[in-house]
Amino acid sequence: MKITMASNKKPKPDFSKLGFGKYFTDHMMVMDYNDGEWGNIEIVPFDCMQMSPATNCLHYAQGIFEGAKAYKTPEGEITSFRLDENFARMNRSASRMCMPNFDVDKVMNGLVELLKFEKDWIPTNEGTSLYIRPTMIATDPMLGVHASHTYKFFIILSPVGAYYANGLKPTKILVEEKYVRASIGGTGEAKCMGNYAASLLASEIAISKGYDQVLWLDAAERKYAEEVGAMNMFFVIDDEVITPELVGSILPGITRKSAIELLRSEGYKVVERRISIDEIAKAYDEGRLKESFGTGTAAVVSPVGVIGYKGRDMIINNNEMGTITNELYTKLTDIQYGRRDDKFDWVIKIN
Ligand SMILES: *Cc1c(COP(=O)(O)O)cnc(C)c1O
Repeated sequence: MKITMASNKKPKPDFSKLGFGKYFTDHMMVMDYNDGEWGNIEIVPFDCMQMSPATNCLHYAQGIFEGAKAYKTPEGEITSFRLDENFARMNRSASRMCMPNFDVDKVMNGLVELLKFEKDWIPTNEGTSLYIRPTMIATDPMLGVHASHTYKFFIILSPVGAYYANGLKPTKILVEEKYVRASIGGTGEAKCMGNYAASLLASEIAISKGYDQVLWLDAAERKYAEEVGAMNMFFVIDDEVITPELVGSILPGITRKSAIELLRSEGYKVVERRISIDEIAKAYDEGRLKESFGTGTAAVVSPVGVIGYKGRDMIINNNEMGTITNELYTKLTDIQYGRRDDKFDWVIKIN
């Protein structure tokens, strides 16, 4: 593996005031695709990339990404969480976007080297981590609307703060009845760039109305709950934990999958099925909607305190984190930070 050292290292930011995705480490991993094959992995200084203004991905969004995290244990060991799942999903996203698949072991080796190289950038304060952003973009400098012949794969790393800097505050979400995120047959189950640009307008409107995020409904009927921003959704009705099934328009979250496995192993009944917003509202009216939460790499588990629908706010569990949400958050983060026995074999040891 070719490694080019950065000539000068950046000063580290204040690890107690990181926020999300604002600072980047000194190096990144790159790999280029030409003539039908991926080239060698290189580690190079983190820097701006030069490209033609006609570069394919800048116009038609032929691009995909992933999100994962690395941690440093009190013993100084570097760990990560289910990265194999991230790279498998990235290859599925690539296939959907007409982009070439890559060798997972090869990229994993590159990432391991990069993480070892940048280990001083892994923050250790409670709730902090080193966010990993693998990205693949189409690089043909041509305006024709067709799959590119050349691609760039890169991984950048960003030390990030605790998602809940001021404790776990439940989020307020607004059911979106006009705009949709994804439809079956579309690109909703791929982590592709265009999905996020398309979601911004509804999100801005929800924020202007005092909500944090949007709860998307299915595109065909505006009836079934799908997901929120970059989080999968769970609803606790009576003693059942219900999460929308992966019908093709929902991103198959790795935290979602882990939450299902963990809750089942703790004896909870977890059901994957379509769930309509009217069923959720009815359960709320009958006092049977006990908890709701979202799952995703950034926040891990995010309690939902308010769901706004048809002009009224459904306030869940007194706008406080529920018991199951709390148990899941604690157990999942304890596994990720190495504070709890990893009986699922989810934690990857880097060094
Ligand atoms: C990334 C993402 C998620 C969460 O996936 P994780 O693998 O749990 O991080 C959920 N929904 C969308 C739209 C996403 O982009």
